[in-house]
Amino acid sequence: MKITIDRSSCSGHARCAAAAPGLFRLDEDGYALPFDDEVPGDLERDAREGESACPERAITVE
Ligand code: SF4
Repeated sequence: MKITIDRSSCSGHARCAAAAPGLFRLDEDGYALPFDDEVPGDLERDAREGESACPERAITVE
């Protein structure tokens, strides 16, 4: 599983991190940080919840 953050669409709502704090990380201004590695399968649900929580549709889970 891969998560892509469209940083140009991210508006720093931090809702992804609120929905899945163990997965999404934010920079010092509250914008989501990109993912470098594959996401483990057991975090699939957290990834989907973060994706759904983003009002800007800046998160893509594949
Ligand atoms: S919820 Fe969306 S817009 Fe807000 S920080 Fe996360 S990725 Fe960015």
